Amino acid sequence: MFYPRSVLALAAAFAGILSAQVNQPAINSNAAAAYESLLRLRTTATVLHTTAHPDDEDGGLLTWLSRSQGVRTGLFTLTRGEGGADLTGPELFDALGLVRTEELLAADRYYGVDQFFSRAADFGFSKRLDETLDHWGKEEVLRDAVRVIRLYRPDVIVSRFHGEPRDGHGNHQAAGVITAEAFLAAADPKRFPEQLSEGLRPWQVKKFYRSVRDDEKGALKIDTGVYDPMLGASYRQVAATGLSFQRSQGSGGRLVPSGSSISAVELVKSTLPPGTGPELGLFDSLDTSLRGLSSIAPSLHLEIPLAEIERDVTNAIQEFDARDPARVVEPHIAPALRNLRALIQNVTNSQVDEDAKYDLLFRLRNKEDEFMRAGNLLLGLSLEALVDPPPSTPDAPPTRPFSVAIPGQKFSITATVTNRSSVHLEEIAVGLIVRGHLEVSSTPIQRTSLGNGEQLKQPFDVKVQEDAEYTRPYWSRANSYRDNLYHIDQPQYVNLPWAPPEITATVSYRVAGVRFTLSEPGRTVVSEPLVGEERRLLMIAPAMSVELLPRQGIIPAGRRNQSIDVHANVTSNAKGNADAKVHLELPPGWIATPGEVSLHFDHESEVQNADFKLTIPAAAGPQAAKTYIVHAVAQYDGKDYGEGYQIVAHQGLEARHLYRTAAAEFKGVDVKVAPQQKIGFIQGVGDIVPEALEQLGMKAQTLGPSDLASGNLAQFDTIFVGIRASAVREDYKTYNHRLIEYVNNGGNLVVEYQTEEFDNIPYGPYPLHMGRGSERVSEEDAKVKILDPANPLFSMPNKITAADFDGWVEERGSKFLSQWDPQYKPLLESNDRDQKPQLGGMLEAHYGKGTFTFISYALYRQLPAGVPGAYRILANLASQAGKGK
Ligand SMILES: [Zn+2]
Repeated sequence: MFYPRSVLALAAAFAGILSAQVNQPAINSNAAAAYESLLRLRTTATVLHTTAHPDDEDGGLLTWLSRSQGVRTGLFTLTRGEGGADLTGPELFDALGLVRTEELLAADRYYGVDQFFSRAADFGFSKRLDETLDHWGKEEVLRDAVRVIRLYRPDVIVSRFHGEPRDGHGNHQAAGVITAEAFLAAADPKRFPEQLSEGLRPWQVKKFYRSVRDDEKGALKIDTGVYDPMLGASYRQVAATGLSFQRSQGSGGRLVPSGSSISAVELVKSTLPPGTGPELGLFDSLDTSLRGLSSIAPSLHLEIPLAEIERDVTNAIQEFDARDPARVVEPHIAPALRNLRALIQNVTNSQVDEDAKYDLLFRLRNKEDEFMRAGNLLLGLSLEALVDPPPSTPDAPPTRPFSVAIPGQKFSITATVTNRSSVHLEEIAVGLIVRGHLEVSSTPIQRTSLGNGEQLKQPFDVKVQEDAEYTRPYWSRANSYRDNLYHIDQPQYVNLPWAPPEITATVSYRVAGVRFTLSEPGRTVVSEPLVGEERRLLMIAPAMSVELLPRQGIIPAGRRNQSIDVHANVTSNAKGNADAKVHLELPPGWIATPGEVSLHFDHESEVQNADFKLTIPAAAGPQAAKTYIVHAVAQYDGKDYGEGYQIVAHQGLEARHLYRTAAAEFKGVDVKVAPQQKIGFIQGVGDIVPEALEQLGMKAQTLGPSDLASGNLAQFDTIFVGIRASAVREDYKTYNHRLIEYVNNGGNLVVEYQTEEFDNIPYGPYPLHMGRGSERVSEEDAKVKILDPANPLFSMPNKITAADFDGWVEERGSKFLSQWDPQYKPLLESNDRDQKPQLGGMLEAHYGKGTFTFISYALYRQLPAGVPGAYRILANLASQAGKGK
């Protein structure tokens, strides 16, 4: 028989509530946490909340459930939020998914919940339910939702969304629909039977709620603004602190005033007999007491032993003293845990019906984990597992531990246990659990007991096998722009936030003869300028990490004797001197100069660049619509290295590695540009227009504050304003009048996608207005009509047609203008299904001798995806000089 507890223990460890120390807020280890761990022991209630994206959740409700009601609380977020923007760094798509996974886990550490995800990727804003379900494949996401329910076995589900247009975003509607269907399907053994072969069982959730506004009829209201003196804040305030980690979405630092804060839900379905009066709580008609478990298998007569355990929990809660939480462990927690284990043994040996046995053991074993966790917290027991620095020598400077482990490496790691309580710990045993490809040896240090303030240090020798896998997400997708469901490379971890760490240290000990265990991931210490010392999960990485830049590009077709500059960046993880050679693998006829580059490294983490010029001889001249792939390979110590990783690390969040093949993809595109153009670029939050122009054979000069204040703007044929410059460039706001004057004198000014801040001052030569309800066209394949095909923007030097809008990704565009002066002429028209034709996405006005163009069609998303039409449109935008001069 299979019990998914081990899987859940992993999930919980990663959601953070079981894991201590690093990145943990004090409220997860202090006396408040110890007290909350006791509250968890007196109830069997389990709630699962479902949403679509990180930051959709009702954090106040989750925190209240977990921290005040002792409820085992889970959060199932369908996607990792890869389609959003990133206000904190350059990460987009899969990298943003890693950032937002970690942001949500940081929030979860405040909510106190277990986190789950589906395989669905957030593919950007979607207005429609059917669009979202088509993109994901409804059955696949339902499969994951059912699996999470069977894995977690909640009594109550609270769906954030309704599955109706009131939810807004199509992803939200889909989350509502899928949750409602999963409520039924999870209980049906005919649905997704492969999960039953995996060892899971059908599960009937008892009550199904969804979030509503607090003024809706029949709403069950829960005040999450209740003050908790142990926490020094209300649950809603604790949740807000957690939510503020979701900085990539601009959720940072949102303050919640003291006082009442209502979370409202409505009951949609229940399998329980209806109560007599109105609902007063989420668990009405449900027996969530420990004693209530006896009803699962009445023939076993578990009332009396369960009541005894319950009595110990009640006494522990009554006698709890925040000044000395450990005092309740010996008299109450240890005996209750001993009794619980005896009960588990009895149930295991009993002849009761298999379903009942499964259910009982599932709940009792969860309780066993919760008792051990309570013991650890009440004792304030500390466990750390840190990689040791290499031994220092008298004539060498002090050394630091390495930042990543590489195949073949040997190192030592020390687990340190500190008893910070007055309770004596006995029969201490420290162990290391490793994932494959690591070999561990140690000489166990025997300690029969550990008294107050005493410490045990247990070193382990570890060897990374030569063929060890690198530490990477268990999910991946071949094409971040077009695949909307992740491929799962390590199926055993699907639906969990992460695979377990490479190394987990455990300490087992006895109090009053009863065994407890505590575990903690193995970490290495990394020094970061500005931040100081950081502890990161120990990760295995290649000796040479190779990245080839640019990652993608276009080559204008038919142009003779072209050359492209590419750079291979190689990071050495070798622990000392290393010599590597880098070469490129090329399409037929292409030539790289030089053919090979030798690199020397003298320390770990050193980065060296190998620069190559690629020549495409006329005979092998690029053809339109053809794709050419170039690979970079580093050779070191007899092995080839052809991939590299990006470290996704933000302050306060766990660092992660995202891998990419060291390859560049070039597309032949039929595109021309006007010769000898001088182009200026005002960088906003970051887009690749300058790089794209370079590939087109143009060069853009980046304009800083002094250029805008007093530089000679008239020298530029065209100036581009990058995405969201109005949000982040104070100088753009201050000196916009100089740009308008530049247009008046004959300049060509092109303003890319902006956000609300664009309404703060009059940025155009004539009035224009974005407004709060600004429109978007989110279907990336929505038809686009060119309103004035004769306009030079659509004819010079490239003839722009409907075909240039083929193969777009994510969306047509958003933040369209809603009002404009008649001096502006709309140039494109497009709309989603069921949307009125939209004209505010691209407008042009002549002013003085020049031209002002606004374009919020999402070129910035298309250029990195290598969409040919976007390059052709960009080429035209950059080739209009002299129209008015
Ligand atoms: Zn959302």
